[in-house]
Amino acid sequence: MASWQYYVPYQLKCVYCGFDGKPQKAWWLFSNDHLVPQKLGGGNEDLNIVLACSGCNSTKKDFDPTDGSRDPLTPESRDRLIERARNFIRKQRAMWEQDAHWRRIRAELGI
Ligand SMILES: [Zn+2]
Repeated sequence: MASWQYYVPYQLKCVYCGFDGKPQKAWWLFSNDHLVPQKLGGGNEDLNIVLACSGCNSTKKDFDPTDGSRDPLTPESRDRLIERARNFIRKQRAMWEQDAHWRRIRAELGI
């Protein structure tokens, strides 16, 4: 189920970039992200689910926040894993911003 009502309890805020969709009730820009990707054995339990904007979700993709299982997901490590994923997303974005191809496109679009 996807609707505004469904996302209300989550405050509609991206756990990675902090984007707040509440003012526009922009629930369609958000999805549940598996903190530890399913591909790497991450489950559907609440501990492994965070609300992310579609930009962060697609940037994070299959990033492994457990550092190769050296720091497994637990209630205690969860914030640290989120921070690790957040840094990864930030670095990816910074790389794109440096990229000449994307710089040219942004210049053309005036953004
Ligand atoms: Zn985000």
